[in-house]
Amino acid sequence: MALCWVVDPGAADVGKTCLVDRYLHGRFDGTSRPTVGAAFGAKTVHRNSTVITVGIWDTAGQERFESISKLYYRGAKAALVCFDLTNKASFSKVRFWVDELKAYAPECLIFLVGTKADLVEAGVPREVTEAELTKVCQEAGAVSVKNTSSKSGANIAELFDEVVNEVTDRFQGRGGGPQTRAPSRLPATLW
Ligand code: GDP
Ligand code: MG
Repeated sequence: MALCWVVDPGAADVGKTCLVDRYLHGRFDGTSRPTVGAAFGAKTVHRNSTVITVGIWDTAGQERFESISKLYYRGAKAALVCFDLTNKASFSKVRFWVDELKAYAPECLIFLVGTKADLVEAGVPREVTEAELTKVCQEAGAVSVKNTSSKSGANIAELFDEVVNEVTDRFQGRGGGPQTRAPSRLPATLW
């Protein structure tokens, strides 16, 4: 069994916890509370004949947690950098997270994730254009950018399928598969 480590940095309130909740548990809880520090969840998936455990650190986006987040980047195989499609300010933080990842986890594959696509479909003004997404995706050297909705579930399975496939392809044969360890310097209270 292999372990695939994913972290999900992004500004506060963009919908990171809901994204993880939708993927891991297939549910949407509109009343989710701010994440303190970070929360860990895992799911087992099958790819070809391999069983893969996808471990996800759902990190908090608030400023005071940014230094803690760095501990989670180390050893991560993939990072889902999240932003809210209806909130330009959250999109402007993408570059910050990408720079952090490149500094602290240079091997980590970056996936850009636009959240709350259901709001856009319901008529809430979209504040990030497709052209901007394409440009930032290229500049960041990200694998892809996907628009998702944790509320409707749109594109969530596709996103994580792509993450698992890309991580497996990239890291297979290096140290026996996409196996990795938990960050070693985490404060005990965060486990
Ligand atoms: P986090 O701080 O990035 O972890 O954000 P949360 O997951 O806690 O979500 C912040 C707020 O956005 C909550 O009120 C959620 O109900 C809402 N939210 C998250 N994802 C979606 C979505 O896909 N659609 C809609 N309409 N609201 C969402
Ligand atoms: Mg959260």
